[in-house]
Amino acid sequence: MSIVSLKSWRILLVSTPVASLGNGFGGGVELSLKNLAQSLQLKGHVVTVLAPEGSVLANAELQTVPGQLQISMQFLDRTEAMCLPDNSVLANLWEKARALQNDYDLILNFAYDWLPFYLTPFFQTPIAHLVSMCSLTNTMDRVIHQIAQSFPQSLAFHSQVQAETFGLSQARCIGNALDLDLYDYCADPQEYLAWVGRISPEKAIEDAIAVSEATGLELRVYGVLQDLDYWERLKQKFPHAAINYRGFLGTEALQQELRQSKALLMTPRWVEAFGNVVIEALACGVPVVAYRRGGPADIIQDGITGFLVEPDSIDGLVQALNAIHKIDRQACRDRAEKEYSLAAHGDRLNSWFQALLPD
Ligand code: UDP
Repeated sequence: MSIVSLKSWRILLVSTPVASLGNGFGGGVELSLKNLAQSLQLKGHVVTVLAPEGSVLANAELQTVPGQLQISMQFLDRTEAMCLPDNSVLANLWEKARALQNDYDLILNFAYDWLPFYLTPFFQTPIAHLVSMCSLTNTMDRVIHQIAQSFPQSLAFHSQVQAETFGLSQARCIGNALDLDLYDYCADPQEYLAWVGRISPEKAIEDAIAVSEATGLELRVYGVLQDLDYWERLKQKFPHAAINYRGFLGTEALQQELRQSKALLMTPRWVEAFGNVVIEALACGVPVVAYRRGGPADIIQDGITGFLVEPDSIDGLVQALNAIHKIDRQACRDRAEKEYSLAAHGDRLNSWFQALLPD
């Protein structure tokens, strides 16, 4: 049962500085922010989003800030120094948040960047941090540990496995959510596999292509071409694979195609913090075959809503696909409704913010 909160809070969501909202280059953070805003609104809270210039967001008040984008931390080596470009949008977003803070009860940070964590004690309005990636650099580990020590209630992660990469196994995990009305259930799939995500080496689409080659099944690919050279190299490496690149689609078009697939393949080489695409597939009744690594291992129930396979084993993926008919697609949709609805997410957010805000 969903709990409507008694209090209405004014909440400022500060977006990622690595991309404008709406073009896919921000990865899962874009959908997470959009759906989190909606979950909060459904609980009666008032939400404003601060995001880089050029952002598009339909479901909440949006204020945009100019400046140069930040390089995402995933492209830095563990010991590499983090830098701010001139006229940094990260700095500009937080300067604006500082100026606006008295209009809000709470500021929620989506940036996986050092600055907002560092600023936590210097703001009058409490800052909550939703950490969007796993442990990647020493600078981020250090500042996240400092917050875990000094402001433990202000931190949340998407999944338990993600929190554990920082050695913070007791930390709060809030998952993610979808507007399930936007995803239609499909009981009768067609003979193709789906792969959804940014096309970038850490996502390791090559393993899904290898599976497509081994099984002869068409692989339909959806997502932003973040690393074009990598994509071109893969097309040369697998000249005979039945890859059908469909582009970066909006939610409505994406779910129309995704829902008809036999299974979603999720083959990341890195430790995925969550994996929005897993819950999107489940919402359509599509089972997910993924490596037993990172967020997907927290979400997928092996043998019930998909299969978890030994990491980096192409044979394991192929064997799982051979057994995919054993998965009841309705069980996948049921799981999404139970765990990943906006209402369930709103309850988790309410308990987080109740722990953080004074009565
Ligand atoms: N996505 C999309 N259209 C596409 C392909 C992907 O909107 O054609 C979105 C998808 O809905 C998901 C995000 O891209 O929200 C990928 O997020 P995920 O958490 O799986 O991975 P990340 O990019 O954060 O590593």
